[in-house]
Amino acid sequence: MAERKTSKRAAEESGDQPTATATPLGQQQEEILENKRKRTRPSAGKKSTAKMVAAGESTAAAKNKSRKKTDSAASLTQGKKRKEETVNSVAKSAGKSRKSNKESNSGYQAAEPTVSKTSRKSTAGTKNDRKKNSPPPDELSSSHAFVSNPLANDPLSLRNSVAIAAGEKRKSENGQEKKLKIIPLGGMGEVGKNMTVIQYGEQIVVVDAGVMFPTDEMLGIDLVIPDYSYLIEHRQQVQAFLLTHGHEDHIGAMPYLLKDIEAPVYGSRLTLGLLKGKLNEHRIDADLRQVAPRETVNAGVFKVEFFRITHSIPDSMGMAVHTPVGVILLISDFKIDMSPIDGRMMDLARIAALGERGVLLLMADSTNVERDGYTGSEKTIGSTFDKLFNKAEGRIILTTFASNVHRIQQALWSAERSGRKVAVVGRGMQNVCAIARELGYLHIPDDILIDVDKVNSLPAHQILILTTGSQGEPLSGLTRMSSGEHRQVHIIPGDFVIISATPIPGNERTVAKTVDNLFRQGAMVVHERSEGIHVSGHGSKEELKILINMVKPRFFLPMHGEYRMLYKHAQLAQFLGMDAENTFVMENGQILEVGRRHCRINGSVTSGQVLIDGLGVGDVGNYVLKERRQLSESGIIIVNLVYSRKQEPHILFGPEIISRGFIFEKEYEHIIGEAKEKVAALCTDQRLTDGSLYDLRNQLRSVLGRFVLERTGRRPVIIDVINEV
Ligand SMILES: [Zn+2]
Ligand SMILES: [Zn+2]
Repeated sequence: MAERKTSKRAAEESGDQPTATATPLGQQQEEILENKRKRTRPSAGKKSTAKMVAAGESTAAAKNKSRKKTDSAASLTQGKKRKEETVNSVAKSAGKSRKSNKESNSGYQAAEPTVSKTSRKSTAGTKNDRKKNSPPPDELSSSHAFVSNPLANDPLSLRNSVAIAAGEKRKSENGQEKKLKIIPLGGMGEVGKNMTVIQYGEQIVVVDAGVMFPTDEMLGIDLVIPDYSYLIEHRQQVQAFLLTHGHEDHIGAMPYLLKDIEAPVYGSRLTLGLLKGKLNEHRIDADLRQVAPRETVNAGVFKVEFFRITHSIPDSMGMAVHTPVGVILLISDFKIDMSPIDGRMMDLARIAALGERGVLLLMADSTNVERDGYTGSEKTIGSTFDKLFNKAEGRIILTTFASNVHRIQQALWSAERSGRKVAVVGRGMQNVCAIARELGYLHIPDDILIDVDKVNSLPAHQILILTTGSQGEPLSGLTRMSSGEHRQVHIIPGDFVIISATPIPGNERTVAKTVDNLFRQGAMVVHERSEGIHVSGHGSKEELKILINMVKPRFFLPMHGEYRMLYKHAQLAQFLGMDAENTFVMENGQILEVGRRHCRINGSVTSGQVLIDGLGVGDVGNYVLKERRQLSESGIIIVNLVYSRKQEPHILFGPEIISRGFIFEKEYEHIIGEAKEKVAALCTDQRLTDGSLYDLRNQLRSVLGRFVLERTGRRPVIIDVINEV
């Protein structure tokens, strides 16, 4: 094991991002040249206008959509008390954006994002190399002063006064001072749909755009994405999308976003690889630009420096966004894994160096703030797998998150060591394995993979089945196997199932049900954390402390967590010596105005959730959900009749009563019969039929509703189809 690591490290030091990186970097250089050419060409401006015109149709459609979204989202926004404020600020910002689009048109051209690649040597180069090769901080520090270290005794007051003087000039053309704003559109008060807007003046970069999975009450909803109306209103200002890593809660909403807003997308190799798969499904083309750790890109006024962090998916990155006001360090999902499977360490050195230089605002992952100590290393799982793989006498069926490439890697290695062949089952697992293998993140031992059809031709103790379903998802491989519905794999007594994950909050019940069913079929199941088969991808309290201590930011904004987690994370920073007024707990949509010396929450923008059902984006709102809930609770009754008022009122057809999900009609024929009599009596009642059809229908629904409630205690939805001839 040690040998392998050493060779990997050596490879990395020699600049190995292996061979595969070489081509894309070449592409990037070409892009740089192309961009330069574009900028020198006088027609460059025209080109982009043409693009906008060409996109005109979809723009209009998007506008419509955005309006719809805003409607549904506004009603869904949880902070109702903010509603008024939101409306105001939207109105204002809409006005502003119209103005600013005109103004910033030319600016946008000049500021077209380009990749400025630090030499590859810088990854592991000498100190001198590093100095030479990390232009962003050095360049910035010569022209802009950085904030001092707030936990030390502010020795940089001179620098700060220079900075304030420089700040005088930072006014936009309309005379208003440009402000640095952080606007979380998702990920605050929730674990999911992460999305953060960083804005300076009229330029925006967006970090991540993820999805959240629907709760039980969201009947029929497939996915939930953040309401990004704010970005649609300011689409001209978006300089770049920046991605931290390839988890669904960080890239899942990108296909939707990219349909509405055009801007280059920066991310690591694996992140972009996974995103590309999604974009292909949605048939979207996008300008994807791969970045390597310690590479810096220019996006308008921002310089964004990426660095490696460790998490439960390879190729995760944190970023330092260098702004004219100071450095924002954004480290979303991370843990400090000192023995990562791929040997690629979290870049603590760079984080510390940035901290030393002065970080204005730190934003960091709060997921595991409630857990004491340190999160275990991914490597600890390997030895547990070995033990279990050797102990099991039958087949092993193992499930984990498909994106946890390192976990899958360890399962493959353990399979190899215990002489098992591996069948990969389930589309999600197969897709990720294919992408990760192709990009060189997953090393599949020779001849170890077998087709699932071959599983029965080998002895049970030589089989490992890798599948999805660690969260009890209804359509996943494991869930189907557990209920005997899987086409290819049937559970047999002696099967040994390992669920290498913990349920995401909300999924506990479905997972428990799957486990029960597996036991029922005669399998043995290992699923508890105490068995050492799972470690979290998020750092625990001590790791969070290390980060805060290392960075010593002036301001601290916890992210990626439910409200109490954000709160506790802020408290943790205070425990480490930060002033309470320098730590912030925010809600989605709120605006954090970040100055050199002061920082405050000031106003908010539209935020909330957009529900996705099939092909519909945002067309299912609160009202539709309420109807669905009503239908699901008591069913529906449809009354159908044709009547005439000529001479005296009489019924020509019906009344016919059809119900769905209400009662079993055959058994309750008498109730349906009585209901029909009630309806017939109403429609032939002279007093009623003298009025309007509208009144009659209202009367009918209320009489029928009361009758049904009396007799059954239920409140079905009543729909009447009454025609008069
Ligand atoms: Zn996350
Ligand atoms: Zn993650």
